[in-house]
Amino acid sequence: MIARHIGCLECGKLWNDRKAGRQFCCTTCRMAFNNRRMKRGAELYDLFRAMRRERDQAKALGLWSEMCRLELRWHQEDEATRPGRRSYMPPAKALANLRETGRLPIGDVLVRDNATGSRRRA
Ligand SMILES: [Zn+2]
Repeated sequence: MIARHIGCLECGKLWNDRKAGRQFCCTTCRMAFNNRRMKRGAELYDLFRAMRRERDQAKALGLWSEMCRLELRWHQEDEATRPGRRSYMPPAKALANLRETGRLPIGDVLVRDNATGSRRRA
């Protein structure tokens, strides 16, 4: 059976083939999509880690606002170069991908209370 796709996530091209669920028309588009995600993820990594581990300084420097400003720039770049096509995985898919690889720890996030040395939920 030939599956009709809604369009390549990267270039928007429509195509027909025998593999249902494909999101990209070719390897080049799949790699471009994933390379952009990796580059943007690297830009966000230090900001996110600082937000979690050095919260007071991160707050004083307005890191959350900077992270939001960075995301807005990515959104604007996407709309200018690839309008109407998302450049990230939907939330459920992103979680499913992490769970499939075993990279997503299961359970509550715990932090150490410096005053008592005990652990509590973050
Ligand atoms: Zn494509």
